Amino acid sequence: MKFIDSHCHLAMDSFSEDRDEVIKRFFNEGGIALLSVSTNIDEFYLNKKLCEKYSNIYTSLGWHPHDAKVFGKREEDFLKQVAEKRLINAIGEIGLDFYYDNSPREEQIRAFEIQLKIAKKYNLPVIIHTRDADKETAAVLRKHKGIKGVIHCFTSGEEFFNEAVKLDYYISFSGIITFPKADDLRKLVKKAPIDRVFFETDSPYLSPVPFRGKRNEPLRVKHTIEKAAEVKGMDISTLSNIANQNFFNLFGKNNL
Ligand SMILES: [Zn+2]
Repeated sequence: MKFIDSHCHLAMDSFSEDRDEVIKRFFNEGGIALLSVSTNIDEFYLNKKLCEKYSNIYTSLGWHPHDAKVFGKREEDFLKQVAEKRLINAIGEIGLDFYYDNSPREEQIRAFEIQLKIAKKYNLPVIIHTRDADKETAAVLRKHKGIKGVIHCFTSGEEFFNEAVKLDYYISFSGIITFPKADDLRKLVKKAPIDRVFFETDSPYLSPVPFRGKRNEPLRVKHTIEKAAEVKGMDISTLSNIANQNFFNLFGKNNL
C-alpha cells in the first residue's frame, strides 16, 4: 500500500529529537509524499530544509486563525515573496476558528481574506481550517471563487460538506474518523465522492485509534485510510491510490 499524509506539522518542537527517524519511517513503510505545514516564518525555514533534503516533502505557509492577530504587513509581504518564488506548494492553513477565538473574529476574517487573495494572485491551492464557523467560512469561500483547495481535518456538518464539494474543494479526513464517537463524521466519509478525498494525520496532534493520546506521526495515516476503506466498503490500496492521485491533482507533482 502506498499512501500520503496530506497534512502534518513536522516543524513543531515535538519532532525536534527524532524528526529524521519519523520521516524515514514514513518513506520506508509505504509513504510516497507528505505535506508539512508552516504556520510562521521560522517553521517555513525549517520545512524548507526538509524539502531540500527529501524529494517528496511538500510545504505550505499560512497564518492560522489563532494567529490572525499577528498577521501584519511583514508577514503578508513574506508570504507574497515565497509564493512568487514558488518556495511553497500551498497557502495555509488559513481559515476561521470560532471555537477557541484566540484572535478576534474580525481579525480572523481579515487575515483569511488577505491570504486567499494572495493564493489567487499566485495561483496556489489553499489549506482551510474551520471550526465552529461553517457558515462564515462558506461565505468567505463563496466570495473568493476560482481558488482550489482542501478543507483540512474535516469535522464539520453535512451542510458545509455539501457546500465545500459544490465549491470544488477537496476534503481531508484525519484520525478523528477512527474515534468511537465519530459516527456522524463516518457517514460523511461514506458519502464523500471518491475523487474529492484524501487523508492526513495533523501530526503531532490527533493520533488515531489505537494510539490515542500519544504523539502522532505521518506513518499513522495508514490507520485512517484503513478505517475509511472499511466505511466505504473498498479495498484499502485502491482507496489509497485514488487519494494519492487526488492529492497530486491539487498540489501538483513536487519539484521544490
Ligand atoms: Zn494543522
